[in-house]
Amino acid sequence: MGHENNKSLSFSESVNFMVDRALTVLNIDEGISAAIKACNTTIKISFPVEINGKLEVFTGWRSVHSSHRLPAKGGIRYAPIVNEDEVEALASLMTYKCAIVDVPFGGSKGGLLIDPSRYTRDDLQRITRRFARELIRKGFLSPATNVPAPDMGTGEREMAWIADTYKHLHPEDINYSACVTGKPVAHGGIRGRTEATGRGVVYAIREFFRNADDVQAAGLKPGLGGKRIVIQGLGNVGYYAAKLLEEEDESKIIAIIERDGVLTNDEGLSIENVRQHINEHKTIKGFPDATFSENGAAGLEIECDILIPAAMEAQITKENAENIKTKLIVEAANGPVTFEADDILRNRNITILPDAYVNAGGVTVSYFEWVRNLAHIRFGRMERRHDEIRGAKMLQALETLSGKQAEDWMQKEIVYGADELDLVRSGLDDTMRNSYQQLKEVLDSNDKVSDFRTASYVVAIQKLVRSYIDIGVY
Ligand code: NAD
Repeated sequence: MGHENNKSLSFSESVNFMVDRALTVLNIDEGISAAIKACNTTIKISFPVEINGKLEVFTGWRSVHSSHRLPAKGGIRYAPIVNEDEVEALASLMTYKCAIVDVPFGGSKGGLLIDPSRYTRDDLQRITRRFARELIRKGFLSPATNVPAPDMGTGEREMAWIADTYKHLHPEDINYSACVTGKPVAHGGIRGRTEATGRGVVYAIREFFRNADDVQAAGLKPGLGGKRIVIQGLGNVGYYAAKLLEEEDESKIIAIIERDGVLTNDEGLSIENVRQHINEHKTIKGFPDATFSENGAAGLEIECDILIPAAMEAQITKENAENIKTKLIVEAANGPVTFEADDILRNRNITILPDAYVNAGGVTVSYFEWVRNLAHIRFGRMERRHDEIRGAKMLQALETLSGKQAEDWMQKEIVYGADELDLVRSGLDDTMRNSYQQLKEVLDSNDKVSDFRTASYVVAIQKLVRSYIDIGVY
């Protein structure tokens, strides 16, 4: 596990060192440890697309870390900096993540080296369709074996193009729409997927605050209301997480760090207003109700109760870990804290809720979407009205027995039948709560484990080992 020289670790080395900690605690056989950590396959694809009358060559990767369960699942990111190591690290995180939240998938990830802001919608459509075609032909995209989802730089638009490309190549596949998740609702997507990762982050934080001993151990006072929060990245994940924390939990978002700097306001920022400003001006600069500084990195060092990195990997490193002034770090992004920084932060008793657990809401709801696609029916379609009729009968019985009329809000609540969005949120909440309790059980029962990250890998590895032992190696 030793890492001695001064060279920074690569992303996958960083993840593997963290996993090693859990493997040591568990005393797992060396062969099985190596099998768990090894990345099964990675393909690199280069393909030309005509842009403005000229051919441009694009390069992308798709990595399958583990196929102990199929399909292998994981997002596709579009970014100007992506490489094989990063995609492999992210694929391995997906394996652990799915195991932690009991989603029956293997781990995969994809990346395309591209700055999407430099291309038109039409260009992006042609590039995405071509990339998808390559992945399909090479056996790296299908409902049964490998199912992508959105990640940095991609969203439901790209997922719809991918699904449509698959459908054209495989019209005989009755389950074609399950070849990718995160699609628009009108094209087989599920309600609540876009917000799922951010909402899952908030459910994880709420569960943390329900556990008074953990809150106290982190040096925090009970309750999320009024907590001072700094968030990095107001993209898909960061936006929904921050919005819910502000609007539903009454926390104060005192700083938002974006690519071009940091906005601060000690009284709390309005997430909706900041987002609107970004949509209009493509920058956080000039937002009226806050102080702006171009030194975004310094934003991570602002004194706060909760720091939520929700942008990208390697943001808290051995260079700035000593300067972090928060009590709780919630890893909404993948790999925002490096292995070396993790060591420093642990020694400083800063609690970290780790990525593999915290941002698993995305893949959890992707799983619901995949099941919905295989079932070919929206969740709640069969039972909603039935539940409403039953509710109305219960209300009638209550009113008859008590001789009183229920207040309006009671009538509404009792008669209400859950729709798809309610069911998705309920399933997501249940998943985040159950998984937290699994981590906590390891923390409470194993005196060699004192942090949530190691606990999360212990939980994941125990399930993976079980699968290797039960099934064997083929
Ligand atoms: P996104 O592209 O929607 O948003 C990323 C945001 O971070 C953007 O607003 C961008 O401007 C900002 N950003 C980029 N670099 C930055 C920097 N150096 N400093 C400050 N801000 C920066 O991406 P996303 O989907 O929200 O993903 C964010 C992170 O969450 C990634 O690590 C991703 O792997 C992880 N994640 C995403 C999902 C998902 O469902 N989208 C699921 C699990 C994990």
